[in-house]
Amino acid sequence: MSFMGSRSTRRNYGKMRSAVTAVAHERIDLLLGQAVETLPRDPKLATRYVGLAKRISTRTKVRIPTEKKHYLCKNCGQPLIPGKNARIRIRSGNSRIIISCLSCGTIRRYPYRKLEQLPRFSMKPYITLPSPSRRKSRTN
Ligand SMILES: [Zn+2]
Repeated sequence: MSFMGSRSTRRNYGKMRSAVTAVAHERIDLLLGQAVETLPRDPKLATRYVGLAKRISTRTKVRIPTEKKHYLCKNCGQPLIPGKNARIRIRSGNSRIIISCLSCGTIRRYPYRKLEQLPRFSMKPYITLPSPSRRKSRTN
């Protein structure tokens, strides 16, 4: 009995689960958007929006996308806007992107890879896996 198009979630607890996930995704997106919008006017409110998004994430086990998470300060909880309350520097020597929160001074470093190094469209990992046919021939 599958009515809804099966959204490929990591943990699929059936219809209820996917409904909860969909709403949580939407709410998190909305809250983070509002947080960025309200930051210049009211940093406290922006922090509150981020906190709510984080709480929804932990309660529902819906992850905040990593690229968005990088722009949330882990210390003070503010949304980080480059040029406003965040500074971004790239260290090409050790392939790190450094995001500093200018309101509390927290610095976070994330590794990055060059675009051409990302094996996004490569089938290589699947090809290099040991094939079962080879193992079979060895036992025979
Ligand atoms: Zn901060």
